[in-house]
Amino acid sequence: MTLQGKTALVTGGSRGIGRAIALALSAAGARVAFCHPGDAAAGPTLAALEAQGEAMAFAADVSDEAQVIAFHDAAFARFGAPDILVNNAGILHEAPLRDTSAGDFDKVIAVNLRGCFLNCREFARRSDAGRIINIASELALVGRADLVAYCASKGAILSLTKALARELAPGILVNAIAPGPIETDMTAPASMSPEQIAMDLASPLARYGQPGDIAAMARFLAGDEAGFITGQCFGVNGGSAMP
Ligand code: NAP
Repeated sequence: MTLQGKTALVTGGSRGIGRAIALALSAAGARVAFCHPGDAAAGPTLAALEAQGEAMAFAADVSDEAQVIAFHDAAFARFGAPDILVNNAGILHEAPLRDTSAGDFDKVIAVNLRGCFLNCREFARRSDAGRIINIASELALVGRADLVAYCASKGAILSLTKALARELAPGILVNAIAPGPIETDMTAPASMSPEQIAMDLASPLARYGQPGDIAAMARFLAGDEAGFITGQCFGVNGGSAMP
């Protein structure tokens, strides 16, 4: 139980990668507080976490400053100063550049980038030590047509990660994970065949990864073994974003 006694906050923990990360950190011994915009207490994730240990769910939209502050306040009141923050909440808007409205662009940036910034700030206001893990995307590195706001938001998360790694050292270590294609609700509408993954993403493994593949990296970065790692971005992508 490498994370025994630690408190972890996970944004967007109700489904997909965030749920897998919340469960992995909890299985390693951490108390876990997660948020998402829906009725967090009603979903199956809270029950699954409580079967493993202490947990709390909170309804919050990460793009809303007051709601993010309320999430951190509630977690602090219940568990004390946080040790681990995973910025996982994210959305995408798929459309050609010419059909992307300023509102579409702003919404993606607000959830993916502003949400990450707000949560990092609130974490750092309550804790001098610990780990921040930001979920970026391989698309930050390679780009993709029809996903301009998403790619830009994820690229900015990598820059934010590096800046905060310098600013918050040595107490808080800040790293990013850049997932490749992972089988979740986010990728379901654009489901690709192994051949497409191999072709489009130049992926030697030519398949989707699972949320647990990202959770394993998050658990490693949250643990003592990762104590000399900060300001880095780890690709977990089946080899698809190799330079
Ligand atoms: P997902 O299945 O669509 O789940 C998204 C999660 O984010 C849900 O828990 C959702 O809550 C939450 N969320 C959405 N908007 C939010 C907001 N405004 N405030 C707080 N929470 C919000 O997505 P996923 O595939 O697990 O992706 C998770 C992260 O990994 C995202 O940052 C995504 O960009 C990144 N990523 C995914 C892939 C992939 O292939 N799947 C690849 C690279 C990077 P609700 O349940 O309430 O909607």
